[in-house]
Amino acid sequence: MIIDGKKIAAKLREDLKKKIIDLKSTFKSVPGLTVILVGDDPASKIYVKNKEKFSKEVGMNSEVLRYPKNVEESVILDKIIELNKDKKISGILVQLPLPKHISQKKVIETILPTKDVDGFHPVNVGNLSSGYDSSIPCTPLGCFLLIKKIEKNLSGKHAVIIGRSNLNGKPMAQLLLKENCTVTITHSKTKDLKEECRKADIIVAAVGKPKLVKGDWVKKNAIVIDVGINKTESGIVGDVDFDEVSKVARAITPVPGGVGPMTIVCLLNNTVECFKRANS
Ligand code: NAP
Repeated sequence: MIIDGKKIAAKLREDLKKKIIDLKSTFKSVPGLTVILVGDDPASKIYVKNKEKFSKEVGMNSEVLRYPKNVEESVILDKIIELNKDKKISGILVQLPLPKHISQKKVIETILPTKDVDGFHPVNVGNLSSGYDSSIPCTPLGCFLLIKKIEKNLSGKHAVIIGRSNLNGKPMAQLLLKENCTVTITHSKTKDLKEECRKADIIVAAVGKPKLVKGDWVKKNAIVIDVGINKTESGIVGDVDFDEVSKVARAITPVPGGVGPMTIVCLLNNTVECFKRANS
């Protein structure tokens, strides 16, 4: 089965649209998302454009603040502090990566945890790992929703996550742990990655290495979620060798059209959740 992330995300956006209409009639206002984009990285520009397009589509207020790549760090931090105080803004996202002279850590820590729609603030990271209510990083949240579409009861399943980034691997592990999976997190120093993967009921690959996961790495009927986005001469490919793995897996996400669309809808969802918490 090929997991159609595009279709699932479109349905979730429809649900969000209705939710926002309800919120508008209750609170006489709608969630507002502000995205800060520094520089002109082509991939970041596309991501930001899509975030703006879809947030408008579901009926949110959406604003993109663009800065040149040599903007001073203090300008960005001051703007975040101003947005933190603005009641019309429910969520703030600073598009990563940032130019080297701007501290990613300082930027993340300046955003109020209650407006941190990316879920990167240490308070939200701590809340997630403690099992408390928090913003959850959008890509792993999207992967999690896709896995739940395939398998409602994850208790006792063995999940192998490839990659341990703060953005993907670590929060993914927390989400699956909360569902009572047995979770193995692997990384570049893992001794026998193939052997680890062969034990998995669920594989989430968030590595950045084209077609790393091969057909003989995957147990029959496993669920395989491919987070990777790799530019190659033959186009965009994931971290999973789709042709090989799709013959063995029970369900697999394609690249593109799998995890990517879910990431954006989860960002919109996080913004709505921040709005609801701020108004409750
Ligand atoms: P990252 O920060 O570079 O982390 C990559 C992880 O993979 C690291 O933990 C690294 O291990 C591990 N790794 C590298 N080579 C490995 C190998 N040969 N075997 C096992 N593990 C290996 O990357 P990221 O930000 O998590 O992104 C991962 C991929 O997802 C990228 O392709 C990115 O473009 C994509 N992505 C997609 C979306 C989406 O919406 N679909 C969103 C975000 C990212 P070490 O920790 O030991 O270095």
